[in-house]
Formats: sequence, structure tokens, C-alpha cells
Amino acid sequence: MSFRLAITSMASVIAATSLVSGGSALAHGVAVQGREVTVETTEMGDGIYMMSTGIAGNLALLIGDDGAVLIDDQLPDTGAQIESAIVEITGEGAPRFIVNTHYHGDHVGGNAHFSERGSTIAAHHNIRTRLQNDPQTWMSEATLPIMTFGDDLTFHMNGQTVEVSHVPEAHTDGDSIVYFREANILHMGDIMFAGLFPFIDLDGGGSVDGFIAGMERGVALADENTRIIPGHGPLASVADLQASIDMLREAAFRVRTLVEGGADLDAVQAAEPLADFHDDWNWRFITTERMVATLYNDAIAR
Ligand SMILES: [Zn+2]
Repeated sequence: MSFRLAITSMASVIAATSLVSGGSALAHGVAVQGREVTVETTEMGDGIYMMSTGIAGNLALLIGDDGAVLIDDQLPDTGAQIESAIVEITGEGAPRFIVNTHYHGDHVGGNAHFSERGSTIAAHHNIRTRLQNDPQTWMSEATLPIMTFGDDLTFHMNGQTVEVSHVPEAHTDGDSIVYFREANILHMGDIMFAGLFPFIDLDGGGSVDGFIAGMERGVALADENTRIIPGHGPLASVADLQASIDMLREAAFRVRTLVEGGADLDAVQAAEPLADFHDDWNWRFITTERMVATLYNDAIAR
């Protein structure tokens, strides 16, 4: 199947960009849309690794005697490359468990690859429901998480307490953040786009206030030593997460003020309410103009 057909609209846009650069261990290449895709693995200690390809959501991997847990599994076409990178670390392929942080195709795309190799895939109830109700061409029955949960799920493996917590109505309606308590490492899923305007999927059940509340959940878990794996962008700190909160809260306030004053979308765009954020936060997928449109659509729906 063609890669264009194989991924969601968000992922296809991301596939045309490069979110993460630098890193090490460029060992496992695959050509996607003519671009060489490589898995970059960063060892973080305590048996935990951050894995990135630059075209899809960042992964976290916990390994040890109790088996491996993988947070997210990227795209339909990258399963074999992710598996090869895991084999290089552990000597074994499919992890014992996989957690999906939300339903987008650049985070759940590898589910079928790994579930067919024996991985047990856990996800919030709404992820399975959305995948069932809106099947994509690349999906199969094996894409669906076999284990679902509501508010939270905890793994007790390899000396870590791995706390998976649902955050309602944030990036989507099925997001989770994942905290490796003893290691003090936090995977935010797509409730953090480090240094980038965030994608808030209003059609997928997301909301601006929920997104801010989700980031605040992350801040509440973290301290100054916490290493934060964002859904997209480079490894981050709690100060980076707070900066994302401050930006989004101020941006939402400005747009809501214009909407409450009677401005329509054209008038809001013309006022350029995020002009001073542009240089620091604009990027190819979520431009300043698109961020304004999302904030407008969220504001009129409140
Ligand atoms: Zn996403």
C-alpha cells in the first residue's frame, strides 16, 4: 500500500516535515515518500530509552527482566524499523506491552505489526472506539487495542512504577500521559509539542482548556529534574512545559477577547493576535494562522 494512503491526514503532513533533528544511533533506515527514515535511540538510564524517527510521535521504551513496555508505535510502515531498533537494545523484538497515548495514526500505526508478533496493546477506551468507528485504509483488526482502560493504568515492571493517566478533552478525547515514577521521566503524548504551536484536534474531541489542563497535570507530576518526552519535538524540561502553558493560555485569552468583542474569523486573523509568538512557535504543520483558526473555532464552541 502506498504511504500516502497508509497514514492519517495529520501524520501525512508530519511525514513531509522533520520535527526532530540530531541524535545518535542512526541504524535502522527505511525510505518513506522518498525520504530516508531512521530510528534515533537515546538511552536515558533506568532501562528507559527515547526513540524518534523525526516523522512521527516520539516513543519511550522501558526494558528489563519483566519484559519491555513501549509507549506509542508510530506509523504502519515503520513497525519493522522500530522492531529492529528494539532488538538492538534488548535482543528481542516485540515488546510485552504497548501503550497508545491517543488514536492518531502516527502513534498507533505500528499496532498491527506488533500485536501480530505477540505484544499486548493497552489504550484508553475512546482510542479503541474511535479506531473502530473511523477505520483507516491501513488498519486491520490487529490495530485495535486488546486492553482498554478509563482513568488510569499502572505497570509494575523492571523496578519502575509506570503510571498511565487519562487526560480528558485535551489533544483528543483519548489522551494519556505516562510517568515513570522512579526514573522521573514523563512522556506527555501529544499534550506537548515542545517549542511548537500545538495541534489541538477539536474534531477528535480535543479542547484548548483541556489541553492546558493536561499540560498542568504534567507540571504537577514533574520537578526541575524531570526529563519530559514530548509527543513531538526534542527532549524537554518542566520549564519548557510551563512555557507552552503560558503561551497557549495567553494566545487563547487574546483570541477569546476578540471573539467576545464580535470579531469573526477573518477579523480575528486580520488582528494578528499571535504576531509576537510567531518566530518562536510557528512551524510547517501548525502555522500561526492555523493556531489562530483553532483558537477561534474552540472559542465559538464554548
Ligand atoms: Zn496526535
